[in-house]
Amino acid sequence: AKERGKNNYQFYSSDLNGLSTRKMELENGLRRAIEQDEMMIYYQPQVDLSTGELVGVEALLRWKHPQYGMISPLEFIPLAEETGLIVPLGKWVMRTACMQNKIWQDSGFPAIPVAVNISVRQMEDEYFVDSVTEVLQETGLDPQYLELEITESIVQNIEKSTLILRLLRLIGVKLSIDDFGTGYSSLSILKHLPIDKIKIDKSFVDDIIYHSNQGAMVKTIIDMGLNLNFKVIAEGIEKKEQVNFLIDNACQIGQGYYYSPPLSVEFMEAYLAQGVSG
Ligand code: C2E
Ligand code: CA
Ligand code: CA
Ligand code: CA
Repeated sequence: AKERGKNNYQFYSSDLNGLSTRKMELENGLRRAIEQDEMMIYYQPQVDLSTGELVGVEALLRWKHPQYGMISPLEFIPLAEETGLIVPLGKWVMRTACMQNKIWQDSGFPAIPVAVNISVRQMEDEYFVDSVTEVLQETGLDPQYLELEITESIVQNIEKSTLILRLLRLIGVKLSIDDFGTGYSSLSILKHLPIDKIKIDKSFVDDIIYHSNQGAMVKTIIDMGLNLNFKVIAEGIEKKEQVNFLIDNACQIGQGYYYSPPLSVEFMEAYLAQGVSG
């Protein structure tokens, strides 16, 4: 635990044994979780805001731990990053999501891209681009139906990142900047990156209804994104008022509990089937 302040430190130190035991058990468990089938992927629909039509899904990792039950990726992804296990785990997510998407396309559902979250640590791995190629070959998914969600933190190593993004573009996958607006990247840097889409972070989408600036930032981000010819998607939409605001300001795509929570494969298939029939 970091020593962020006296109170925090005392809190952590009094609970240090409990915390480190759980952390150690999760770290050890991570190594076996994939083989033991404890990891699974949920899929959250992304929709066209004007028509409600399904235009994509985001793959979100879930860990059903034998002792602790469902664990949030917010807790175990950082552990996987620290230990380097994010590299094999991330590849598993990419492979599983591509395989699932291919199965859905082959069974007659409309072809849509699956978006997969990529950690910086994963992109820094020298075999990352190879692993993307390998997964696409293995699964037979057309590259245009895989979208990689990367964060603004890639700008910290802009030259290397740009090179990797160019290679990924050549392969034919789509690239999206996740949690947009929460990092420190400037517009002048972003406009040179070979990306397709920006994803406006939930915190800004919340501002539309919960804060006094009433969506001023969202409006700015949408305008900027569209001017640079990026697609713009808003995440974390929970209310009709947010949908209306986003449509009024020309945002095309959205994702959030208002439309659907992340769904298990079974429930996602029911969602897909509904779209086909009606
Ligand atoms: P994210 O990429 O920003 O994903 C969106 C998160 O917001 C997801 O949480 C999703 O379930 C949640 N969400 C979606 N709509 C709403 C809404 O309307 N309201 C609220 N309150 N929440 C909403 P989740 O699934 O717990 O994932 C948390 C984070 O963990 C993700 O944030 C992402 O950064 C990371 N993550 C998840 N799966 C993976 C993965 O396979 N690889 C990596 N590297 N990171 C992952
Ligand atoms: Ca994401
Ligand atoms: Ca993220
Ligand atoms: Ca986010």
